[in-house]
Amino acid sequence: MSGFERFFNTVNGAPVQSTTGRWFISENPYTGEPWAEVPQCGVADVEAAVEAAHAAFTTGPWATLTATARGKLLRRLGDLIARDAERLAKLETRDNGKLYAEMSGQVRYLPEYYYYFAGLADKIEGGVLPPDKSDVFIYTKHEPLGVVVCITPWNSPLLLLTWKLAAALAAGNTVVIKPSEFTSVSTLEFVKLAEEAGFPSGVINTVTGYGHEIGAALVEHPKVAKVAFTGGDATGAAVYAGAAKGLKHVTLELGGKSPNIIFEDANLDDAVKGAISGIFAASGQTCIAGSRLLVQRSVYDEVSRRVVDFAAGARLGDPMQADTQVGPITTQPQRKKVLDYIAVAKAEGAECLLGGKVPADSALKNGWFVEPTIFGNVTNDMRIAREEVFGPVLSIIPFEDDEDAIRIANDTIYGLAAGVWTQNMRRAVRMADALKAGTVWVNTYRAVSFLAPFGGYKKSGIGRENGQEAIYEYLQTKCVWL
Ligand code: NAD
Repeated sequence: MSGFERFFNTVNGAPVQSTTGRWFISENPYTGEPWAEVPQCGVADVEAAVEAAHAAFTTGPWATLTATARGKLLRRLGDLIARDAERLAKLETRDNGKLYAEMSGQVRYLPEYYYYFAGLADKIEGGVLPPDKSDVFIYTKHEPLGVVVCITPWNSPLLLLTWKLAAALAAGNTVVIKPSEFTSVSTLEFVKLAEEAGFPSGVINTVTGYGHEIGAALVEHPKVAKVAFTGGDATGAAVYAGAAKGLKHVTLELGGKSPNIIFEDANLDDAVKGAISGIFAASGQTCIAGSRLLVQRSVYDEVSRRVVDFAAGARLGDPMQADTQVGPITTQPQRKKVLDYIAVAKAEGAECLLGGKVPADSALKNGWFVEPTIFGNVTNDMRIAREEVFGPVLSIIPFEDDEDAIRIANDTIYGLAAGVWTQNMRRAVRMADALKAGTVWVNTYRAVSFLAPFGGYKKSGIGRENGQEAIYEYLQTKCVWL
C-alpha cells in the first residue's frame, strides 16, 4: 500500500478500481504533496461504465420511474449535499487549492440546482397540434436521449458537474462522469451521495483517468448519445470531432477572454472591487475571469492605480484559512503556463504594474503560487489580451468611447461573458445589446444561478446550461400521428 488515501469509481452501484490496476496521484496545490490515489482507468473501464449506464437506461427501474419520482430523488440528493457540504468543499480545496471560503459557498449553493431541476422534471410537457386533416390526431412528447457522458475540468469540479447532471437526470437520462485527472476526488465522493439518495444502480457511473487515454473511447462509444463537456477550446474541438463521428448531441462550455468594461460615469469604488474579484478570485482560474479590463481613457490612470493598490494588499496563503484572499494555482503545469504568459507579455512590451513572478515568501514556497499580476497599457493585439491565461493576470486596456469599447471587447475569438460598469442605464442596455457574449453583467461580475442560462458565443461553446432551456439540451422531441 502506498499510504495515500484511495478513492474508487462507482459503476453499476458498486465501488470499483480499474481493470488496468494502475492509480494516479492527486496533489495538494498548497503543500505540493501527493495525498490521494485515484484509479487510472482504461478503455475496458469505459466499456463497463457505459454498458452499466445503457442497461440502467433501457431495462432498469429508472426506465419506468415517473418524472415526479425522478424529481424526488434529485431533491433528496440536494438535501444530502447540504448535509455534507463542508466535507465536500474541504475535499475540493485540498484537491484544487481554491479558497475554502469560495468552495464552501459554491458547494452550499449546489442543492439549489438540484431542487430547481427536480421541479422541472415533471413539467416537461408535450403538445397537441391542430391537425391539417380531419382524421388525424398529432401530439408531441419529449424523451431523454440515453447515456450522457459528462466531462469536467479542474477549476470547479462539483459545480460544473452539477450544471450537467441535474438537468440530464431530471430529463431521464443516465450518465457516465469523467472528472479531471487533477481533481477527481470530490466527484467520487459526491457520487456516493447519489447512491445514498436512492438513484437506481447504473444511473450514475464514473470513470477516472487521463483524457488522452480514455476521452476518445468515451466520446465515441456507440452507446453514448450525448457529451456534455466543460474544458479548454482545443479539447472541446477534439470532443466535438469525436462526437461528430457518431452524430451525437453535444454541449460545450469552453474558454473565455472576457472584457470587463469601466466607463468614466461608473461608481468607481464598485467597479474597482468588481475588476479585482473578476480576475483574482480563484486565482484567475475561471472561464468567466474578467481578464481584459477595458478602462475609459479619462479614468484610466485613477482606475489603474486603485486596482494595483487593491491587489497589492491581497493576502496569499493557505486556502483553508479564512483570511487568505489568493490561493495557489491548481496544477504545476498550469503555473508554468501562467508564468510563460507573463514572460510573453513582458517581451511584447506590456507594462508590468504589479507582480509578475512567484512570491518570495518562504511560507508559500511549496505551493504553486503566482503573484497577482497586472499589466497596463496593453493593446488588444498582444497575446496576453488574446489568449486565455487561466491565472491571476489582468491586462488593462484603455479605450476612448462606447464604439471603441465595443470594438475592442468583441475583437476576440471568445464570447463567454462581459462586464459593464456605468450609471447610465441607456448606455448599459446599448452595451448589453452590442456585446457578443453569452452573459453580460452590468455593475456586477461573476454572478451565476440555477435559473440563468449560461454558455458561450463564438469559440466559447455550444448550448446552454442552467435555466429552463438547459433541460431541452437533454431531451429529444417525438411527434406522434394517430
Ligand atoms: P481540459 O480541456 O484540459 O480538460 C477538461 C476535461 O477534458 C478533463 O476531464 C480532461 O481529462 C478531459 N479531456 C482531455 N482530453 C480529452 C479528450 N481528448 N477527449 C475527451 N476528454 C478529454 O481543460 P482544463 O485544463 O481541465 O480546464 C480549464 C479549461 O476549462 C479552461 O480553458 C477554461 O476556460 C475551461 N472552462 C470552461 C468553463 C465554462 O463553463 N465555459 C468553466 C470552467 C472551465
